[in-house]
Amino acid sequence: MRKHIFNAGPCKLPDSTLENVSKAVLEFGNTGQSILEVSHRSSDFQAVYDEAVALFKEVLGIPEGYSVIFLGGGASMQFCMIPFNFFKKKAAYVNTGTWSTAAIKEAKMWGDVEIVASSEADGFTYYPEFTIPSDVDYMHITSNNTIRGTEIFYDPTSPVPLICDMSSDICSRPVDVSKYAMIYGGCQKNLGPAGVTFVIINNDFLANNVVADRMIPTMLRYKTHVDKESMYNTPPCVNIFGVKETLKWVKAMGGVEAMEKLAIERADMIYNELERSKMFRPVVKEGSRSRMNIPFLLREGYESLEKEFLDFTKSKNIVGIKGHRSVGGFRASTYNACTIEDVKALVAAMQEFEAAHI
Ligand code: PMP
Repeated sequence: MRKHIFNAGPCKLPDSTLENVSKAVLEFGNTGQSILEVSHRSSDFQAVYDEAVALFKEVLGIPEGYSVIFLGGGASMQFCMIPFNFFKKKAAYVNTGTWSTAAIKEAKMWGDVEIVASSEADGFTYYPEFTIPSDVDYMHITSNNTIRGTEIFYDPTSPVPLICDMSSDICSRPVDVSKYAMIYGGCQKNLGPAGVTFVIINNDFLANNVVADRMIPTMLRYKTHVDKESMYNTPPCVNIFGVKETLKWVKAMGGVEAMEKLAIERADMIYNELERSKMFRPVVKEGSRSRMNIPFLLREGYESLEKEFLDFTKSKNIVGIKGHRSVGGFRASTYNACTIEDVKALVAAMQEFEAAHI
């Protein structure tokens, strides 16, 4: 029996992704080969790659003048590639939690990093307001903070190239891609299986902003991968197949507008319960509450029931709601493939547990 999966990434994927990847593992089209075996240089795989890129462009409304590439190394590799390629004198970052902190650490290796806003003093429980300086090489934000559960719901207007880590909210809402010089993230939440990273990059930004006099290793240079359309080296073929299948599903479901509607519905169901509950409470301040990751805690007096609640949810076939090891408590990750039924099961479990203990 399939569980109610609330994992933070890798996470629940659409049934059609699982079915079609499984089929392609056994036999990829009419090739007489598995997707695990087929050459990345073959026309059969090239068609998969092209379809993944075309679907991504269509679903997210990526305008002309942008390249899409799929790389290895995770979003974490982007934390270092971004400054390696684009940091000249100074960059600006917003610090909204673990992942932006990790991105900032890499940028600092190259010089002056201006932290234009941070919610650290408040335990990263809200998305801080910020003003983008005009004297920096680029500005970096993390649109959704997977661990802390905060999210920014608009696309900022920026006087300098704007770079965004959208690992955990990509394709969960319409995005005005033209506002960004680059959007990147691990695919392992809303786009498919772990092991592949997406980069959407403005071609003019890439042509005009790379640090000219720096020796950038070939594999760490964006131009290498854009010029070779992700085929400079062997790309993660099966993972790209999984991304293509997931994007097909997003499109069939009604696109990012439909994803957003469902995301709001799921998050509202959980947040309404947290507001009502006498046992559980939300952590994140109103206005910053992510629709993708919802951290919550036991209210005062009930903290000792943490393990018992986790065991109880397990008995209800609910998995993945243990909070990140750095913050504790609970976290429900409600990515695109999470269903209203999954959320109903979680809310029902919370209510049943509360009724049994109050
Ligand atoms: N950024 C965000 C917002 C994330 O959620 C994660 C991972 N969960 C990362 C970056 C790091 O991604 P990866 O593990 O693919 O390097």
